[in-house]
Amino acid sequence: MENIAIIELLAQSPIAFIIFTFVISLLVGSFLNVVIYRLPIMMEREWHRDIEQTQNPEKELAPQTTFNLVKPDSTCPNCQHKIRAWENIPVISWIVLGRKCSGCAKPISGRYPAVELLTAIMSAAVAYQLGFGLTGVAFIFGTWLLVAMTFIDLDKMLLPDSLTLLLLWLGLGISCFDQTISPIDSIIGAIVGYLSLWSIYWAFKLLTGKEGMGYGDFKLLAALGAWVGWQHLPIVILLSSVVGAIVGISLMFIKKKDSNLAIPFGPYLAVAGWLTMLYGDHIADWYLSTL
Ligand SMILES: [Zn+2]
Repeated sequence: MENIAIIELLAQSPIAFIIFTFVISLLVGSFLNVVIYRLPIMMEREWHRDIEQTQNPEKELAPQTTFNLVKPDSTCPNCQHKIRAWENIPVISWIVLGRKCSGCAKPISGRYPAVELLTAIMSAAVAYQLGFGLTGVAFIFGTWLLVAMTFIDLDKMLLPDSLTLLLLWLGLGISCFDQTISPIDSIIGAIVGYLSLWSIYWAFKLLTGKEGMGYGDFKLLAALGAWVGWQHLPIVILLSSVVGAIVGISLMFIKKKDSNLAIPFGPYLAVAGWLTMLYGDHIADWYLSTL
């Protein structure tokens, strides 16, 4: 009965829904820090094991130590001090602990609380913009996936299938139950999203012999196409190119790095897709009115 009362409150009060989303997403952001750090390591371990297996099919593989999103418990990377529950409260613990480990006093990166705050603010923005409902709740989950993908891509130049494809199936699925976007628009959005980057990739490779992006980018744009529909895909591509160009050129000036510097494309797609999902109609209106 209590659960039903809570759901009724969230459905009736937009403010309650936004605050609830903000608090839950702070906690989720804390878990996303774990995903961002551990998922690529889990994938690398898997690849190494596969290679070992292929090279020595006869050899029995040594048992591996447990390493997943839950186990082992989080420790300080410097002194292996085990992070206790009260030291794991999003943002607050980081401030209370004086931005350092309670065991060895080594500074804790500000990126952890930043990811937590970013997740909470973006999710609350989704709750505000889309409101309580199937699409709103599902896209809050989609926002969590996008945050994890963005930081994994920044760290490792990698977009895990386990995240991109989950976002894709979710977007296609939601279109079947929600009136915002039709299943046809969603399916065509996914196809066009994938094929547009796929063709650019091959054209670029045939012309220059270089690889400008990876298959993870195609899957991510397919997923975003499923969420925003094919009509809004040009906005996603336009926005990601504009943001990418601004960041790329600034980096060249700030760091004086050469133009061949590899920058992951995933974060730009993620930001552009997220903005289009929330404000696509406004952006389209604004663009058409300025023309
Ligand atoms: Zn420590």
